[in-house]
Amino acid sequence: MDTIRKLEILSDAAKYDASCSSSGSARPALSGGLGNGAVGGICHTWAADGRCVSLLKVLLSNACAWDCAYCVNRRSNDVSRAGFEPEELVRLVIDFYKRNYIEGAFLSSGVTGCPDTTMERLISVARTLRVRERWNGYLHLKAIPGASEQLVAEAARWADRVSVNIELPSAESLGSVAPDKSPRAIFSVMRSLARAGGFEPRRLLPTDVTPSSVPSSNPGSTAFGNLPAVSGAAAERVPVYDVRLASTDRPSVMEVRKDRRRNPEAAVLPAGQSTQLVVGASPESDAVILGLAENLYLAYDGRRVYYSAFVPTTPDPRVPALPGPPLLREHRLYQADWLFRFYGFKADEILSADRPFLDADLDPKCAWALRNLDRFPVDVNRADYLELLRVPGIGPRSASRILRARSGSALKPEALQALGVVMKRAAFFVTCSGTVPRIAGSMKSANPEAAFARAALVDGAREKLGGTQLEFDWDASA
Ligand code: SF4
Repeated sequence: MDTIRKLEILSDAAKYDASCSSSGSARPALSGGLGNGAVGGICHTWAADGRCVSLLKVLLSNACAWDCAYCVNRRSNDVSRAGFEPEELVRLVIDFYKRNYIEGAFLSSGVTGCPDTTMERLISVARTLRVRERWNGYLHLKAIPGASEQLVAEAARWADRVSVNIELPSAESLGSVAPDKSPRAIFSVMRSLARAGGFEPRRLLPTDVTPSSVPSSNPGSTAFGNLPAVSGAAAERVPVYDVRLASTDRPSVMEVRKDRRRNPEAAVLPAGQSTQLVVGASPESDAVILGLAENLYLAYDGRRVYYSAFVPTTPDPRVPALPGPPLLREHRLYQADWLFRFYGFKADEILSADRPFLDADLDPKCAWALRNLDRFPVDVNRADYLELLRVPGIGPRSASRILRARSGSALKPEALQALGVVMKRAAFFVTCSGTVPRIAGSMKSANPEAAFARAALVDGAREKLGGTQLEFDWDASA
């Protein structure tokens, strides 16, 4: 098989992995070396389905010995198989880089032999690129669950980012949908990566969720009726991973990220570790998914959790036969994740056991604000930074601008838009020293309790993405 045909097969096989963002690294040029990983030198483009394609994103091999039901490369799937020799992949990366086709590489692999053998082959590519070729471009390596701590540490030595995908939001779903993977194998790699990056993993306690986290009223569960993971579990208890922090008084992800306990002398893994959660291949609620994501950020110094809408490729009885990937749900989870990382929210503020799914029509911050009207209106002339961040339509940048602008004189409603405040949302939730903004284009005073407020806050994502969304009964699950 020639290299071009291999490339076709192995780049196509890699496209469903969403955990390939190249953000977070600024590897400088080396004297006498080749290339650099500086953010300014990286040109991002995105495929029509939203996946990053600015990197050479390819598998070393798709001849996988494992059988994850959601994966096109699973052992039991009848697809063309191919594999590169490590040296062949090195040449490809260097040739593409020299031709300016790529700014970096995302290298993963199906499991060929055992996890350590696969890891060694990936590391061999990385080491050759860095040492022999003196290639200094951005490199993201995938770690294989169950790989030894030494190999994970070596992968971290050569790569900007290493990711290990957790894939399923509960141990039970992992057991039924990805039977060759185990929580222990995944978390041991995460712990090794955290340590390689100079972060001591936090102590965790076991937990589980009550049935209300996977409510029987959730009609989405009918889509999983034939799944062994769901049939009994939804009615009883669904064990989730052993990733709850020991302290109930835990900090927010935003606080921890500001105060990152990273050893400044740890030169490895500048872009940290990331992981991917497949959404819609198993029955866990958004509350379970967000709770897990929050704990991964807090416990293992995760840089990013990616939510990947399950793409039904070829039928498998272990996963639901969806009409299309649940993109609206993926979109809302990303919005909620943004609230962790940049707005100081905690998972249990966004969702709870009695409200387990994100609102389909509202972004999670608007939905939270409408549920917490006792915290509004916020006076933009008196509120502190964290209070401003909680206002729909105000982000980190506009909150900082408000603090600066009001130091001169008190702000009036008409000044807010110029500071970057999105008034069509914020108008319902702020005052300016007692003056309530008017709704744009109307003489109505903004009032979040008015009947039109919720309709005015609907963002239209359902219309854009709803055609491929699992249809949950949001009212029934509220
Ligand atoms: S280990 Fe699972 S997810 Fe990874 S390539 Fe193999 S079948 Fe796919």
